Amino acid sequence: MRPDTQAVHVGRPPHEPDQPLNVPITMASTYVAGGEREYGRYANPSWTAFEDTLGALEGGHCLAFASGLAAVATVLDLVGAGEAVVAPRHAYNGTVMQLGDLEARGRLQARLVDVADTDAVVAACKDAALVWLESPTNPAMELADIATIAAAAHEEGAQVVVDNTFATPLLQQPLELGADVVVHSATKYLAGHSDLVMGALVTRDEVLHGVLKGRRDLIGAIPGAFEAWLAVRGMRTLGVRVERAQANARELARRLTDHPGVREVRYPGFGGMVSIVLADAAAADRLTAGTSLWVHATSLGGVESTFERRRRWKSEPATIPEGLVRLSVGIEDVEDLWDDLSSALPAS
Ligand SMILES: *Cc1c(COP(=O)(O)O)cnc(C)c1O
Repeated sequence: MRPDTQAVHVGRPPHEPDQPLNVPITMASTYVAGGEREYGRYANPSWTAFEDTLGALEGGHCLAFASGLAAVATVLDLVGAGEAVVAPRHAYNGTVMQLGDLEARGRLQARLVDVADTDAVVAACKDAALVWLESPTNPAMELADIATIAAAAHEEGAQVVVDNTFATPLLQQPLELGADVVVHSATKYLAGHSDLVMGALVTRDEVLHGVLKGRRDLIGAIPGAFEAWLAVRGMRTLGVRVERAQANARELARRLTDHPGVREVRYPGFGGMVSIVLADAAAADRLTAGTSLWVHATSLGGVESTFERRRRWKSEPATIPEGLVRLSVGIEDVEDLWDDLSSALPAS
C-alpha cells in the first residue's frame, strides 16, 4: 500500500461479517486477566488503531502519548545524568523549555545549534548522547540535513530524534533518513481538526520501543480512548488535507512574496506552514486582529487557517523577529484566504 492508502486502511478490523469498519472507542480501565492488555495504562484497542496507522506511515513501531510534549519528555528521560543533547535553538518552544529545565536542574547538558548550519551541528555532535532535530523548525522554518547529521551523530554513538510534526510522514520520513526515533504532536496535522491534544513516538528498533513502552507504562502519559479514536478519524483524511493545505500554502507564499507590506516570506517549498515577517510587532498585531476568516490562535495543522505572532509568548527566543507571524494554512478556498489576509496586510 502507498501512504495515502495506508492512512485510510491500516488499523481497521478485518473484513468479516458484522465487523465494524472502524475500531470502536474502548472505554476500559482494566481487562479480564490472562491476555496481553491487562490494564488501561498499558494498552487500549483505540490506541492500537492509531499506533498501527502512524507506524505504517512512518515505517516503524509507534507508541501513543498524552501529548506531543509527553512524548518529548519520555525521550529526553532516556538521556543519562550529565550527558549532552544537541538541539535546534529554534526547536518547538516547549522542547527548548524542557531542555532548559533539565539543564538548570543538572540533569543534562543542552547544546543549542543553528540546525541549518550542518557543519556546526556535526561539530556539536562530539560526545553527545542524543541529537534532537526538527525540520522545518517551528516557527523559523529552517531545514536540517537529516541524513548527513544522522550519519555523523551515529559515528559519535549518539541517538537521533526527529520531530516530524510540521512535515508529517507524507512529506518526510525521518526513519528512512537514518533517525532512531520520530516524535509527533498528533494534536496538529495528524488529528487535523483542532479538537484534541495527543502525541506519538515511532521507532524501528524493537529494543528501544520496549524501553519507551516501559517508560510510558510507568509514567502513565497516556491518551484517552476518545482522543485516539478522533486522531485515527483525522488520519483517514491526512492525504487530502495535506495536499490541499500545501497547495494553498504554496500559492499564498508566492503572493505574499510579491506583497510590498511583507518584509520576508519563509516557506521551505513543501507543507502547509508559512512564516512571514512584517515591519514590527504593531504591524503583526494589526494583521492578526484585522481578519475575519484567519483566527489568531496558537497551535497549527487544523483544517481551518490560523495564524499567530509568535513573540507574543515571553518564552519565544529573541532571534525570532517581533513581526514574525506564523501561518497555518488550512484547506479553505485559497481565494477566500487571500482576500481576508491581504485585506489586513500593511500597504507597505
Ligand atoms: C505542538 C508541537 C509540539 C508539542 O505538542 P503538544 O501536543 O502540544 O504537546 C511539539 N513539537 C512541535 C513541532 C509542535 O508543533
